[in-house]
Amino acid sequence: MLLRQLVSPVAQQLLCACITADMHMHNTCCACVGQLLCPNNITTTNVKDILPKEAYESVRKNMDKGILTGESSTARHDLMLDGVLHHYENRIFPLDKEYLLCMCRDISQQWEAEQTNAQQQKELKAARIKAEESDRLKSAFLANMSHEIRTPLNAIVGFSKLITYATSAEEKNQYSEIIERNSEMLLNLFNDILDLASLEADSLKFNIRPIKLIDICLQLEQQFCHKTQNGVKLILDDVDTDMYTSGDWNRIIQIISNLLSNATKFTPKGEIHFGYREKEDFVEFYVKDSGIGIPAARIATIFRRFGKVNDFVQGTGLGLTLCRMLVEKMGGRIWLRSQEGQGSRFYFTLPLVRQ
Ligand code: ADP
Repeated sequence: MLLRQLVSPVAQQLLCACITADMHMHNTCCACVGQLLCPNNITTTNVKDILPKEAYESVRKNMDKGILTGESSTARHDLMLDGVLHHYENRIFPLDKEYLLCMCRDISQQWEAEQTNAQQQKELKAARIKAEESDRLKSAFLANMSHEIRTPLNAIVGFSKLITYATSAEEKNQYSEIIERNSEMLLNLFNDILDLASLEADSLKFNIRPIKLIDICLQLEQQFCHKTQNGVKLILDDVDTDMYTSGDWNRIIQIISNLLSNATKFTPKGEIHFGYREKEDFVEFYVKDSGIGIPAARIATIFRRFGKVNDFVQGTGLGLTLCRMLVEKMGGRIWLRSQEGQGSRFYFTLPLVRQ
C-alpha cells in the first residue's frame, strides 16, 4: 500500500484507522470533509511500513500516551508529499483493550495561519516593547534635559546681568568664570546629544588612523590633573611609550575624557590611575578610581541611556552610552568592575597596531 493512496494530497483530508498496540491498521478509510473518498479495509498494513521515521515516531509516541492514560491524545507530524511539506494532526482514541482509533487530518492551512499569527504576535510584541522603551526614553530625556539645560542657562543669563553691576575686577572675574563654566557645560551637553543622534543614525564620521597612545594620555593628564577634588592625585601609570592603536584621535580623547571626568566627579579621596597595556591583538585602556563605586545592581545598566545612579548628581547620564557606542564603532568593547564604597575600574579595548 502506497502512502499516497492512504494520504492523497487533498486538503483537509481525513484518514481514520483502527490500530492495534503493535500498530497494525484495520478498517482504514480516507474521507474528504464528509465525503467518503476511498474506503479501504486493510488488515495487514503496519503504520511503520507506510510512514517515514519521524512521522511514525510522533504517532507512536502519541499512541503510547493514549495507551498509558486511557484517554484521547493529540500530536502533530509532518509529511513530504510530492515535494510539498504537509502538516498533520494525529489523534488517538483508545477504543478497548485491543484497538485504538487513529485519525489523521491535514492541517497545513491551519498550521500556516498559526505561523502567520505567531509571527504577527511577535512583531506586535516587539513594536510594543519599542514604543514603551521610546516613551520611557522620551520621558527620561525631558526630565533630565530640562534640568540639565535650565541650570546652566539660568546661571548664564543671571550672571550676564549681574556682571554689568559688578563693582570690582575680582567680582567681574568671578562672574565671568561662572558664565564660562556653565557655557562649557551647555556646549558639552549639546555635543553629547548631537553625537548620540549621529551615532544612532550611523552618520558620525570617524577618521581612523594609527594613534600614538602616549601623546593622547599626556594631553589628558595635563587637562585633568587640576580638576580632581580635595587634592586627589591623578596618575598616568608607567606605559609603553611606543604603543599605537587604530582609531579616531578626537573620539579616543572623548572616551577617556568622559571616564576621567566621571572618576574626578565621583572620587572625593584617594587616587585615580589611568593607562593602557597590550592584550593580544588589542590595547586595553583603564581608568581606576578609589571613589564612591557603583552598586552591583546598577552595573548592568550603567552603559544605557540615562543610567544615572543618583539623579541629584550633575550629569545627563549619556556619557557612558556615548563611550560604549564610540568604542564599539571603532572595533572594541567597554566594561567595568566596581564595588560600592571601594571605587571603580573602567576598561575598554581598541585594535592594537603593531609597528
Ligand atoms: P553622567 O554624564 O551623568 O556622568 P555617565 O553616563 O557618564 O553620565 O555616567 C552615568 C552614571 O554612572 C553616573 O551618573 C554615575 O552614577 C555612574 N558613574 C559613572 N562613572 C562612575 C565612577 N567612576 N564612579 C562612580 N559612579 C560612576
